[in-house]
Amino acid sequence: MTADDSTNPSADHLIVTIDGPAGSGKSTLARQLAARLGLDFLDTGAMYRGVAAKAIERGIDIPNEPYYVTELARNCPLRFDWATDPPRLYARGADVTDRLRDRDVTDAVSDVAAIGGVRQVLVQEQRCIGREHPRLVTEGRDQGSIVFPEAEVKFYLDASSAVRAQRRADQLREMGKPVQLDAIRKNIIDRDRKDSTRPDGPLICPDHAIKIDTSDMPLDAVLDLLENNVRVKVGMRV
Ligand code: C5P
Repeated sequence: MTADDSTNPSADHLIVTIDGPAGSGKSTLARQLAARLGLDFLDTGAMYRGVAAKAIERGIDIPNEPYYVTELARNCPLRFDWATDPPRLYARGADVTDRLRDRDVTDAVSDVAAIGGVRQVLVQEQRCIGREHPRLVTEGRDQGSIVFPEAEVKFYLDASSAVRAQRRADQLREMGKPVQLDAIRKNIIDRDRKDSTRPDGPLICPDHAIKIDTSDMPLDAVLDLLENNVRVKVGMRV
């Protein structure tokens, strides 16, 4: 491989990170961007949600028993089924995908994600996935800052909390889940605060990230913008 191959679309290594707060459109956009560019797609929020779902199932008192949550994360390996789109998530062999967006999991997940030991385990697992899937669009809160600081292209997406709550409500409605807009908005603001103020892997705009406010943009337009930026940055044909 020559030095230039690292920026070639056909090169075997191209990591694109998308970070941002809840409801900024990251998951939908990351998945569609991956499909357009022929890359794999990693939803790291699903991994924190998977640990939260398992902790609830075990009856762990999450804010007061961080040790047990960390032990659970260590002993309950998470695996994606890359043959499905989006990849389904398995925790110690059990399919937890349908639990991930449930209200109790959403309410608990930021407390799980604030536990340093849990982050250590999941950051390692994400880097391992990055080695196994080196052509990847990955989204979360710390992907460009902590997990893949050397990523070829980094984005940071933001939007007003009202827009983000409405998007999350539309997403839940499509999934046939119950929707209460006020509760969703409150949860989003609460998670923003916890995610931005924790000491380990807080939500930040990573160095060298391209920052996009998606509040007034249709997601299709954001997707075009992301795709064009990747193509220009890594020298793919637009
Ligand atoms: O993106 P999503 O809403 O599914 O993320 C759920 C939660 O998981 C976030 O609110 C955050 O607390 C946590 N998370 C994180 N780091 C990531 C991805 C998600 O802390 N890389």
